[in-house]
Amino acid sequence: MGTKPDWQQALDDLPTTRACGACAVCCTVLQIDELAKPAGVACWHLKTTGGCAIWGEHPTPCKTYVCLWRLSDVLIPPDLFPADCGFMLSLTNLSQWPTAVNIMPAPGHALDAWNTPERRQLFHRLAAAWNCPVVALDQASEPTHVFTPAGNLYDSIERPDVFPGQRQLALSESEYGPDRRAPYLRMQEADFRWRE
Ligand code: SF4
Ligand code: SF4
Repeated sequence: MGTKPDWQQALDDLPTTRACGACAVCCTVLQIDELAKPAGVACWHLKTTGGCAIWGEHPTPCKTYVCLWRLSDVLIPPDLFPADCGFMLSLTNLSQWPTAVNIMPAPGHALDAWNTPERRQLFHRLAAAWNCPVVALDQASEPTHVFTPAGNLYDSIERPDVFPGQRQLALSESEYGPDRRAPYLRMQEADFRWRE
């Protein structure tokens, strides 16, 4: 019997009452190479009643993907339920720094559903609290905007130097803060005060 890694245990310990319910955004948005499923196409293993028809045998990317809304009641505001708000939030790497929070557009919603004054304020706070960029992606998973830990917001049209293509970002060292702990440790602290 294997022991869970620290980061997995830390995530399991986060308080949550949230459930996916009628949402299936991740099973549509994610690219799953093991299934030859492109991004933006509903997975053929999605049941009409909701849920995964091959649960338990679902591919590794489905198992390791983390939806921040679903993960805990304390991380992300309740109104960012992916099926309603038009995007989902996920981390690129949980177990070590650096990482990024991705804003991935949900099918049938505007690409810029994330771009309201209230949500911009939230993403600025999140980037600073976890010392990680918060990156808005298009449907091809190419970055279009980035909130940096230093408090900047860059647009790929105005700052192409920050968006070199191939799903990469080119942020300078000065955009990051000094605290480079793994993101799961920050989540345990639950000190990202989105309620204020
Ligand atoms: S996007 Fe999040 S809330 Fe929606 S189905 Fe996936 S894990 Fe559940
Ligand atoms: S295999 Fe299951 S968990 Fe993975 S994308 Fe398809 S329906 Fe979702």
